[in-house]
Amino acid sequence: MCIFCKIIDGEIPNKTVLENDNFLAFEDINPSAPIHVLIIPKVHIQSFNEMTPNIMADMTSFIQEVALTVGAKSDGYRLITNIGENGGQGVSHIHFHLLAGEKLGKLI
Ligand code: AMP
Repeated sequence: MCIFCKIIDGEIPNKTVLENDNFLAFEDINPSAPIHVLIIPKVHIQSFNEMTPNIMADMTSFIQEVALTVGAKSDGYRLITNIGENGGQGVSHIHFHLLAGEKLGKLI
């Protein structure tokens, strides 16, 4: 079982930011910004390549709710999903990084 599935099952503790039946948002253990939240579907999906439009639609609403919950919706934030080896994906369970809490350096 992957590490994020273990977090969903409660085998590994997490600092939950927001949760519903289908998604979980929790603090990244090694934050890259003052606010760094990981947002995952509870169903195991390897990466963005395997996402379906239906799950993505529901996840969009959930991510917006997370942004509001952490107080980042109006000031702005960054969403990142790393995909596969060249994309730098370390955990093979799709996750969006929500980074916020300061003016983030430009990536591109
Ligand atoms: P990525 O490199 O895009 O796959 O991101 C994986 C992220 O998971 C990294 O930012 C890690 O810091 C984070 N991470 C790994 N294990 C845990 C954990 N047990 N709790 C919270 N975040 C974790």
